[in-house]
Amino acid sequence: MKLTYQPFELLLKHTFTIAKFSRTSTSVMLIAIEHEGFTGYGEASMVPYMGESFETATDFLKKVDCQHFSYPFDYEYIINYLDSIAPGNPAIKAGIDIALHDLEGKLTGQPCWQMLGSEPINMPLTSFTIGIDTPEVMIQKVKEAPACKIIKVKLGRDSDRELIKTIRTVTDLPLFVDANQGWTDLEQSLDLCHWLHEQGVLLIEQPMLKTDMESNAWLTERSPIPIIGDEAVQRLPDVAKAQGVYHGINVKLMKSAGMYEAGQMIVKAKELGLKLMIGCMSETSCATLAGIALAPQFDWADLDGPFLTSNNPYQMPAFVDGKWQLNNSPGLGLQKL
Ligand code: MG
Repeated sequence: MKLTYQPFELLLKHTFTIAKFSRTSTSVMLIAIEHEGFTGYGEASMVPYMGESFETATDFLKKVDCQHFSYPFDYEYIINYLDSIAPGNPAIKAGIDIALHDLEGKLTGQPCWQMLGSEPINMPLTSFTIGIDTPEVMIQKVKEAPACKIIKVKLGRDSDRELIKTIRTVTDLPLFVDANQGWTDLEQSLDLCHWLHEQGVLLIEQPMLKTDMESNAWLTERSPIPIIGDEAVQRLPDVAKAQGVYHGINVKLMKSAGMYEAGQMIVKAKELGLKLMIGCMSETSCATLAGIALAPQFDWADLDGPFLTSNNPYQMPAFVDGKWQLNNSPGLGLQKL
């Protein structure tokens, strides 16, 4: 088995601004693992606030010994091995895990979604994210949005109501909102939740600081809309901590260290009665296809990475009536341009 990798700077169509950051591109590491004439593809999307970079990813990959990836893959063993190399580094671990799943699909002739037990009929609608910008640009972004049936709006600044009113001048679509830990005052936040409910908002991501479990729990107990933990929930052990603090969790492959552990998180969340959302980072079609393969097991999906980037090196997966379409190709079904 042979692992190769290539750094790639993924460009964003628009400068992306959320409550605390702004950026124009994302560093991704494209990964290929070859075995018996088949190649599995993976991707690590390393957004700056998660602390990974080309340097950390390269350091990590240099320490990986592919002898630990004997086929058939024991993903539990593999994630423990990757965790033993170094803690953290969830995106590069995800990149390896995704490549192995793609490879397994190709070796067995099965699509990843089937391998993972997803039912096509349960594919949720995916949202399209509008970053914080001037009202004119936000209106333009909504008008240019792909045929999504849910719009996700980044909030968490002083002008939250104004932003929603701006969006509502151009669309009646249901909304997700993401405060990215930007809300601080409890009573004001609760008022805002009630107002957002009237505005057709379906859920709110990470209203308060991820470390402030008490405030998030207070809001969850009272909010008429589901409150979803995102920054607070990274890997499997975080799922149990979300119980009683959030109504649900946002699972992202770049946080969970890949598809295997995301699957474990789904099982745990269902056991605990937590709702499930699948999210993404700025990604190419590769990591998005990995998310799409699991998406039918989630209540909500926010897999808009390929819509927001301008130099995706792969074909866009098929998107019909607001939903990604599962394809029957072995593995992820990734096609180079
Ligand atoms: Mg979020």
